[in-house]
Amino acid sequence: MRLILLGAPGAGKGTQAEMLNKLFDIPTISTGNIFREHIANCTELGTKAKSYMDAGKLVPDELVIELVKDRLKKDDCKKGMILDGFPRTINQAKALDTMLVELDMAINYAVNVEVADEIIIERMSGRTVCTGCGTPYHALYKVEKVANICDNCNEKLMQREDDKAETVKKRLAVYHDQTKPLINFYAEQGKLVNIDGVGEVEKVSRRVKEALGVN
Ligand code: AMP
Repeated sequence: MRLILLGAPGAGKGTQAEMLNKLFDIPTISTGNIFREHIANCTELGTKAKSYMDAGKLVPDELVIELVKDRLKKDDCKKGMILDGFPRTINQAKALDTMLVELDMAINYAVNVEVADEIIIERMSGRTVCTGCGTPYHALYKVEKVANICDNCNEKLMQREDDKAETVKKRLAVYHDQTKPLINFYAEQGKLVNIDGVGEVEKVSRRVKEALGVN
């Protein structure tokens, strides 16, 4: 199975990717996670990517495309993969089509997780993460026992720079301008599946599985 997850930042693509990764036993390629690893390891790519990410902008296509190309060539992608957060521009989608032809691969479905902007803003601006162990929290959905302190390791919680309300609004504007056109791009290829992304995680997962014809 080869899948693309589409949807606004904060729509829940990462959560559904985790479910699909276990279900099909195929790797998830999350360009956002790859960039965050580079930032944590202080690589040159990480330094370049960080300035765009913190500003709520997209990292330039040429940096992303090469990275995905290298990743898709790895052996674990032979049996399938889930692309989470890539492609994000028409240019990236066209580059992906070329890569797939070269690698003799094809996408089965582009799963579009739909969530209204107001809900995204509520979800993302409430998110915090532990500076010690990385456990995620949420002001509405997963509240820590002691304010701003991790339940697991007692380290402080912080808000990711790109989850701050102003940055979230910028990221949504970028999504509408540059990423949303991909919905038509994959509809024209007959690969688009629309999923209502609002509601409990399990319910959204069930909708995804039903749409893909699996249990
Ligand atoms: P994510 O975790 O997928 O929301 O990605 C976090 C940030 O990484 C985005 O806001 C972008 O700055 C950058 N990023 C991730 N994937 C891409 C991509 N395919 N193209 C450009 N920038 C990306």
